[in-house]
Amino acid sequence: MELVIASNNAHKVHEIKTMLAGKFDHIYTLSELDIHVDPEETAPDFLGNATIKATTIAEYTDKAVIADDSGLMVNALGGAPGVYSARYGGEPASDKRNNEKLLREMQGITDRSAKFVTTMVLLFPSGRKIVGVGEVKGEILEERRGENGFGYDPLFYSFELRKSFGEASENEKNSVSHRSRALKEILRQL
Ligand code: IMP
Repeated sequence: MELVIASNNAHKVHEIKTMLAGKFDHIYTLSELDIHVDPEETAPDFLGNATIKATTIAEYTDKAVIADDSGLMVNALGGAPGVYSARYGGEPASDKRNNEKLLREMQGITDRSAKFVTTMVLLFPSGRKIVGVGEVKGEILEERRGENGFGYDPLFYSFELRKSFGEASENEKNSVSHRSRALKEILRQL
């Protein structure tokens, strides 16, 4: 079976491609198929947005489509930035501004517990849909640690890895990440 990853985020695409290696006949990126579409994420939750991404891209291909919607949820901020993680620091989306805003919002807060969450949708040409959800728990650091990964990785201390995602190697992050757990959940149902 051939699969398309419905994301324009190069980091996410790389992570998903690495974790699915050998599971599909061929895995395509959007640009490899000349699909230049950026679906608008108008739903109020991860499942809604992942579904929008998958169904929008499915209109452009006859291959199976996998889409992910993910974000960081901080307990002391009532679950924010949540579905607004990508644009938390304003438009246009910027990891640097997002991290700066998060640190500002967390100033003086002692409960720094948080989790990354992913909802992943695999949509087949037949219309069959498989959903996987994954999360990983940790806390928000007082300052950035490490240069690896993307998004909020340098500010997220993983309890399981005992280091930030920014300090973790690709394999280490993939061994515990919200995205890998959502993918495993999908593969289990295949
Ligand atoms: P999405 O493209 O709407 O799913 O946006 C997800 C946003 O959440 C990204 O732009 C990042 O800011 C953040 N995010 C999601 N997954 C991760 C991750 O694995 N590490 C760091 N930040 C992430």
